[in-house]
Amino acid sequence: MLSVITWLADTSVFRYLRTVSDLSILYAIIVFAVAIFLWEEYLASRQRKVLQTAQKVPADLDGAISSETFEKARLYNIDKSLFESCHNLFEIILSTSFLLLNVLPLVWSLSAHTLRWAEYDGEIKQSMVFMLYSSLLSTVIGLPWSLYSTFAVEQRHGFNKQTLGFFAKDKLKAFLVNQLISLPIVAMIVYIVKAGGDYFFLYLWLFCFVVLMFLMTIYPEFIAPLFDKYTPLPEGELREMIEALAARLHFPLKKLYVVEGSKRSAHSNAYFYGFFNNKRIVLFDTLLEDWEKTENDTDEKKEKDMEEKDAKPESAKDEKPKSAKDESGERTGRKKGCSNEEVVAVLSHELGHWSMNHVFKNIVVIQINLLLTFVVFAALYRYQPLYRAFGFGQSMPVIAGLVIILQHVFAPYSTLFSVLVTMMSRRFEFQADQFGKQLGYAALLKAALIKLTADNLSFPVYDRLYSAWHHSHPPLLQRLAALQKTE
Ligand SMILES: [Zn+2]
Repeated sequence: MLSVITWLADTSVFRYLRTVSDLSILYAIIVFAVAIFLWEEYLASRQRKVLQTAQKVPADLDGAISSETFEKARLYNIDKSLFESCHNLFEIILSTSFLLLNVLPLVWSLSAHTLRWAEYDGEIKQSMVFMLYSSLLSTVIGLPWSLYSTFAVEQRHGFNKQTLGFFAKDKLKAFLVNQLISLPIVAMIVYIVKAGGDYFFLYLWLFCFVVLMFLMTIYPEFIAPLFDKYTPLPEGELREMIEALAARLHFPLKKLYVVEGSKRSAHSNAYFYGFFNNKRIVLFDTLLEDWEKTENDTDEKKEKDMEEKDAKPESAKDEKPKSAKDESGERTGRKKGCSNEEVVAVLSHELGHWSMNHVFKNIVVIQINLLLTFVVFAALYRYQPLYRAFGFGQSMPVIAGLVIILQHVFAPYSTLFSVLVTMMSRRFEFQADQFGKQLGYAALLKAALIKLTADNLSFPVYDRLYSAWHHSHPPLLQRLAALQKTE
């Protein structure tokens, strides 16, 4: 393996890299970022043209989606697209200025000052302060955009269910939890690179693998409940139907939850997680047509309400989600969400992912990519001109090397990789649909997909190039067509 690294460091690409001047490395990185920005803006403008011209419900959806819903989806998506374009323009200007103004070394030396002030020293501690400042900076800069997206764009189209208080608490909590998890990981990564010797990339990869598995295990159990409320799906018809499906497929279903996604937003979904024989299914409350009714029937809910009232009286008025159903009553003329049969059809798709090992395949692809990344990083990270290009002078801190190489130098490769992963994911979606179809759920799945599209105000017509670049899930019409085939 070591010889691979030396060989890699000696290949023509890397030899060429050594002959170019420091600044041309920086300029090449900026040119690539701007090129990707322009390409994505071009795609967005193509999609906006579709949004502006497609004013009629496509023939395949005639009768399934009302022209009123279609028009609402059209306006929502135009709004969203314009907002995203403004945000992207801001981001590219900001990140280019940061690179040209050497903000990275600035934050690095600020961390050194902080550390000295606190009478500490050492690269690992400085790296942690550096990461803390960096994420503080990006969170603060992103805040106005996030506020506008939630309380202007989403609000205008009836999706926002958050109050300002909930939003602030949610963001703060997310920031703190993020730091608690990422700072020790950063410290460990820097330590491994510095102390790991010639084979540090192998240890680094192993460490990341273990951390990923650990986070996947504890996330649903301990972290996700900090942000949303998970309630076991009460006994009843839906539960029986889902358990029957799981039994039929030998899916080791241990727990079945409903998550109150509607507190945050009214976009709906369902997923499963867990290793080996310990699987859980989570349904978003917005997926279920009858959720509120069943929820009110359970004693647990009443108990929880009492507890909440006792504990902190302000939370009741602060976080009370407006009922999605009441609103949609006026909006679409039908209840939001899917019938029990349709929910089971959606789950037949999800269990298709399980049956065909899609999660496992994803992990394998990500791990292979990670190992490759670290091998190339090992060949590059002692290359001084890279650090000079980003304004670091003679110092070569590991954390800066990680940011420079993984985020900036690898950008072309990462872009290609994400396109390939998106393609793979679309294939998996079609396969999962086919799985549901083989179980006899084609018609119900089609009905559910149409309802979810209407509920989420997804716009069913897409520019081909735009969709190929962005969509990890195939658009509705393609999925319906695939479900239709040989039917
Ligand atoms: Zn899927």
